[in-house]
Amino acid sequence: MIYKRSSALFVEAQKVIPGGVNSPVRAFKAVGGDPIFVKEAKGAYLYDEDGNKLIDYINSWGPMILGHAHPAVVEAVVEKARKGTSFGMPTEIETKIAELAVSMVPNIDKIRFVNSGTEACMSAVRLARGYTKRDKIIKFAGCYHGHSDSFLIQAGSGAVTFGSPNSPGVTEGTAKDTLLARYNDLENVRQIVEANEGEIACIIIEPVAGNMGCIPPHTGFLEGLRTLCDTHGILLIFDEVMTGFRLAKGGAQERFGIAADIVTFGKVIGGGLPVGAFAAREEIMNHLAPLGPVYQAGTLSGNPLAMAAGLTMLTLLDQEQEIFDRLEEKTAYLHKGIAEVLERHQIIHTINRLGSMISVHFAEGKVVDFETAAAANNDTFKKFFHGLLEEGVYIAPSAFETWFITDALSYEDLDATIQAIEVVAQKL
Ligand code: PMP
Repeated sequence: MIYKRSSALFVEAQKVIPGGVNSPVRAFKAVGGDPIFVKEAKGAYLYDEDGNKLIDYINSWGPMILGHAHPAVVEAVVEKARKGTSFGMPTEIETKIAELAVSMVPNIDKIRFVNSGTEACMSAVRLARGYTKRDKIIKFAGCYHGHSDSFLIQAGSGAVTFGSPNSPGVTEGTAKDTLLARYNDLENVRQIVEANEGEIACIIIEPVAGNMGCIPPHTGFLEGLRTLCDTHGILLIFDEVMTGFRLAKGGAQERFGIAADIVTFGKVIGGGLPVGAFAAREEIMNHLAPLGPVYQAGTLSGNPLAMAAGLTMLTLLDQEQEIFDRLEEKTAYLHKGIAEVLERHQIIHTINRLGSMISVHFAEGKVVDFETAAAANNDTFKKFFHGLLEEGVYIAPSAFETWFITDALSYEDLDATIQAIEVVAQKL
């Protein structure tokens, strides 16, 4: 495929935007080459500025679970836009989407909408600190909760892709309140909790990690965290920015049958517009301003266009349980197809999958935490990525990301993807 115009646009972009991108993971720095500039997208496909058609496995990093430019979502946004795009005043639609979200997700009574997953996680941690009157938090190496200061300690996703999991600019004072644990290692968490008795406000976790590739939790791990939190008066925060409205209607809480104290959302909840949210039982949420002392705000929070997209998306997901079953079946089909090809070509790999989150780690043995994910062969990944791009298949340009499956993918698309992997595998 030819990517001439994308490369030319990238040259121009770099003159006025740092690295030519408004979010680092979009750059191809980890895999080499120039990023693809998108012209438009529909369903399961991206159409780039050079006229190439690509099967999309990123889907805006998760939100487009029903495919790009879903007619109902587009219509809702266009209709709203005609009536004004922002008021900074309450609107009925905010209550409507809040009611729907609360009805779909277990263990939450109230929800507040913000503009990104970063904001949701940042606000959730502030709320946990305000509620418990404690300062320290526990996060897991390789998990990413947005780019707020407290989280840029051994962070996953772009932070690790670009070699700055501990970002300059985060003060020592902030960093010392973030304690690091190993994913899937309950004993490690227990030791940290016991060494900091009475000081930990919350444990924040991606219930299925997606920012060091996909890493599902071991059986009993999340249950163990729940018990530990109960014993020590710590709040458990599920960062469901990726898993929310994806693993099930009620996200990971429903999927695993485990209650979190605070849940954060992003991606799917906004239907492709900038939306994040955090939610909890009433007693916790009532600590937020204007009811309580924990301050949190936003000029564009609950923006009508964003709420219209989000409400339409959640309504579609709420109406049809089969969507989640289909997503699971399609991803399992892809999983089987990829495994069969890579095994036949004797390429060392591990595929991790839970529901419609999947990733291929070019690693020997199980990938269960950041260490085992980081030990994978990045040279093979780079060849795999560029090989697939040549075949018209677009996956995330970093091994530390999950693939996001959309319901818009047909079995023909999945077969074409498996066939593309066959072509690429011959050259690996
Ligand atoms: N939490 C998780 C689990 C994420 O995957 C992300 C983004 N990939 C975020 C938080 C941050 O969300 P945003 O990029 O919308 O700020």
